[in-house]
Amino acid sequence: MQYQNSLAFAKQLDKEDPLSHLRNRFHIPKDKNGNNWLYFTGNSLGLQPKQTKEYINQELKDWASLGVEGHFEAKNPWLHYHEYLTTAMANIVGAKPIEVVVMNTLTTNLHLLMVSFYRPTKKKYKIVIESDAFPSDRYAVESQLKFHGFDVKEGLIEWKPREGEELLNSDDLENIILQQGNEIALLLIGGVNYYTGQFLDLKRIAEIGHSKDCVVGIDLAHGAGNIQPKLHDSGIDFAAWCTYKYLNSGPGSLAGLFVHEKHAYKKDLPRFAGWWNHNKETRFNMRMPFDVMSGAEGWQLSNPPILSMAAIKASLDMFEEVGMTALREKSEKLTGYFEFLINTINSDTIKIITPRNPKERGCQLSIQVKNANKNLHKKLIENKVITDWREPDVIRCAPVPMYNSFEDVYKMVSILKKNL
Ligand SMILES: *Cc1c(COP(=O)(O)O)cnc(C)c1O
Repeated sequence: MQYQNSLAFAKQLDKEDPLSHLRNRFHIPKDKNGNNWLYFTGNSLGLQPKQTKEYINQELKDWASLGVEGHFEAKNPWLHYHEYLTTAMANIVGAKPIEVVVMNTLTTNLHLLMVSFYRPTKKKYKIVIESDAFPSDRYAVESQLKFHGFDVKEGLIEWKPREGEELLNSDDLENIILQQGNEIALLLIGGVNYYTGQFLDLKRIAEIGHSKDCVVGIDLAHGAGNIQPKLHDSGIDFAAWCTYKYLNSGPGSLAGLFVHEKHAYKKDLPRFAGWWNHNKETRFNMRMPFDVMSGAEGWQLSNPPILSMAAIKASLDMFEEVGMTALREKSEKLTGYFEFLINTINSDTIKIITPRNPKERGCQLSIQVKNANKNLHKKLIENKVITDWREPDVIRCAPVPMYNSFEDVYKMVSILKKNL
């Protein structure tokens, strides 16, 4: 694609964009004067689909008119509500329906998964994470090490970028596993790194981990709804992700969980239990001994919050309608245009640390601005550009194919240029 640095060209791209109509189906935040924000933080909190209210209202209405009977008599009977989300979610992450469930929140799911998949022994107990892991993931694995009586300094291994580099290299992970694999129980890696936006080769990570019998888990918070991770084919053991970032399901909304089919029928896998991972057929019998369900549903504990699930359904229905392939196609073009425009800024203070290869990134570009401080971020906000500032000097920007336009990207880069 030959891009051009002009507003007219950006507008032309919007005109030719087969997904441009989707933007109108979202609420775009506005300033006091009614001007749209240039919203580049869909990687932090996705925007609200207009139909979300309608979906939640349906459940409020059924609750008001039916009370407890809504479990069976609601338009979308609550008893099965989480099942309405499974196929769409499985399509988004490239999984089979039996491998996916929506439940709890992300960090909670990581812990529940580690109950089953982090089974350390005295000799094989270490955990590998990427050095720039999201803090919650780091705290989670540190607490798991401590919970099992291990020393964090001994037990936590960091996969780091090489000296002077920002990105991770799978060869280095391979070396860690070659050297210490016999002592490593688990790899827990962010599939798309939240800081650099690097999309790692999940299949390769799975192969590296499994070569020494290490369990491989992936945090997909920055991947779900952004890239196509093909979780089933990758062969990883488990994954979890939130739905409030690229999946536009509302602040603090529920999370997704993936357990590979190869573990789906292992009823003796250790796990925590509640009535919601007990066999559906006999759940309400209430007096039966625990009989765990197969597949990802076998990790649920509680009956789920329907109002939050209604918001997820409103969003996932849009993903089903459009499909990840079309979204990804637009995303590569949109982020490619963003990259092109950033590269026209004639300044050596600015550097994109996200991979240049579109296959190794999602929509996010992380832009390092040498000697910048948070004032730059403030100036962007004054100009209605909403980005995410990460100390010491990185702006993370995510043009989201569902609702960002080429014009947004053009305007954002013009404003950035003026404020450097
Ligand atoms: C957003 C994010 C989280 C947040 O965890 P919650 O449990 O949803 O609060 C955790 N890990 C990663 C990698 C994230 O990007």
